[in-house]
Amino acid sequence: MSPASGAPQRRTLIAGNWKMNGRRADGLALAEDLARRAAGSAAGQLACDLLICPPTTLLIPLGEALAGSPIALGGQDCHWAEKGAHTGDVSAAMLADAGCRFVIVGHSERRADHGETDAAVRDKARAALAAGLTAIICLGEIEAARERGETLAVVEGQLNDSLPEQASAANTVIAYEPVWAIGSGRTPTVEEIARVHGHLRRKLQDRMSDGDRVRILYGGSVKAANAAEILAIDEVDGALIGGASLKADEFWAIAQSCG
Ligand code: PEP
Repeated sequence: MSPASGAPQRRTLIAGNWKMNGRRADGLALAEDLARRAAGSAAGQLACDLLICPPTTLLIPLGEALAGSPIALGGQDCHWAEKGAHTGDVSAAMLADAGCRFVIVGHSERRADHGETDAAVRDKARAALAAGLTAIICLGEIEAARERGETLAVVEGQLNDSLPEQASAANTVIAYEPVWAIGSGRTPTVEEIARVHGHLRRKLQDRMSDGDRVRILYGGSVKAANAAEILAIDEVDGALIGGASLKADEFWAIAQSCG
């Protein structure tokens, strides 16, 4: 949301997480479509930062397709180690070498599918920063915790334990993603999102000298129809988008909602 005068400037970030979707032909077509729209926007100036995080297999061709475009590229995960015997994994340095500027860490699907703990997420984020990437650290409560009224305690604990000591506003983005809202078509109320983002902001300010400049994204069933309302909430500095990022019209409409 646009800051009141005197408030820190945080440029809105609209990030697409394609998850395990896309082969070369359709991934390239989607990226090229978005790049054409970005090039055609007023003097090539976007009102927000745009990022797409395709599956690892598509990073190199998409990096080539997006060369010269303002749309940035990111990975969906990285290993905490620099290199070595970690079959099936990718290092942060490899992502940087493939043209990435960002990497998502601690997405709830990785926490659930691969048992990733906060400590593992912190180590991955630390590896991302060491490789020169910006880490997008995901937090969010499961539905049972929400029903018990534990949302703030859960996200505060995840923030404390997932944020590496090297984190700064220049290299770290937080994404608040209630697990029950991901892919479900359900979202928290505007008041609930504002409460969680406000809490995270205060915790970031307590912990970091530039905590008021760290971007906090909301994620969970954001689409063109609700993006403007969500992006206008205090302390919401952008969105992390799953399903709707796979459709050029939807993703572009969400990007248009930030300006
Ligand atoms: C996500 O997985 O990060 C996400 C927000 O998914 P969706 O937009 O589909 O809810």
